[in-house]
Amino acid sequence: MTGIVVHGGAGRIPKEMQEDHRRGVARAASIGWDALEHGAVVAVVAAVRYMEGVAPFNAGVCSFPNSDGIIEMDAVVMDDELRTGAVAGITGVRHPVDAALAVMRHSRCVLLAGEGGRRFALEHGVEGCPPEDLLVPEQLDRWGVEWKGAPGDTVGAVALDRHGRLAAAASTGGTIRSPPGRVGDVPVPGAGVYVVRRLGAACATGRGEDIMRVMLARRTLDILETAGPEMAAERAIGEMEGLVDGKGGIIVLDAAGTVGVGRNTKHMPWAAITDEGEMMGGL
Ligand code: ASP
Repeated sequence: MTGIVVHGGAGRIPKEMQEDHRRGVARAASIGWDALEHGAVVAVVAAVRYMEGVAPFNAGVCSFPNSDGIIEMDAVVMDDELRTGAVAGITGVRHPVDAALAVMRHSRCVLLAGEGGRRFALEHGVEGCPPEDLLVPEQLDRWGVEWKGAPGDTVGAVALDRHGRLAAAASTGGTIRSPPGRVGDVPVPGAGVYVVRRLGAACATGRGEDIMRVMLARRTLDILETAGPEMAAERAIGEMEGLVDGKGGIIVLDAAGTVGVGRNTKHMPWAAITDEGEMMGGL
């Protein structure tokens, strides 16, 4: 079995933006699916990379600015040998997931933050850009009106390739108007993403502070040891709600290619393609 599942964040999505989300996650799943012949890592990076490049997603170009009006992004890639690369609070690169992949492939570190992360990425061929190129009118409009600290439109993917290998990746501009220096769950292994060989891969979205405190992705895979993906996703979200009044969602793919999706937010657009066909929902 093979498969890919992607999500487009757990924030509230105004009606007029719902079609863009639906189309965006469907296209990302299809791009990831096409890349799956090159392996699960390539597939999750391709899907996330696509969503980093298009509105309305809060990742790469179109990320949420922090309270200073500056974009600081987090991203991660993880495979089922626990090879992990992540960047936190990075700016000046168009595709933070490429920076995370560079850390995974070329560094002995797991997580590089800020200017060091940007420099490392550029030294390894990741495309740089002026930080202001990441700011787009859509997000500046929302920045003016939305309440401080709201999550939304973050992107992530999990995949299973034909060799039975699993991977996960995620990318975010964080929460809107967050304090400078704030880092969410995405680049923290076990919180935003986790992968267990021959078991499954999970990728979370929502309030990063809640997700980190319960290590949501790791906890979901612990539950997956004795439950199906759908049950694992729902139970993990329920636990987060019970423990820290947490809000968010999670996508899961198990080693048999079965998809699970859980959320306690109003929306979390997602799309999946497996050998059994296409699925989508969350709006
Ligand atoms: N989890 C992300 C963060 O807290 C936000 C999101 O998922 O929308 O940075």
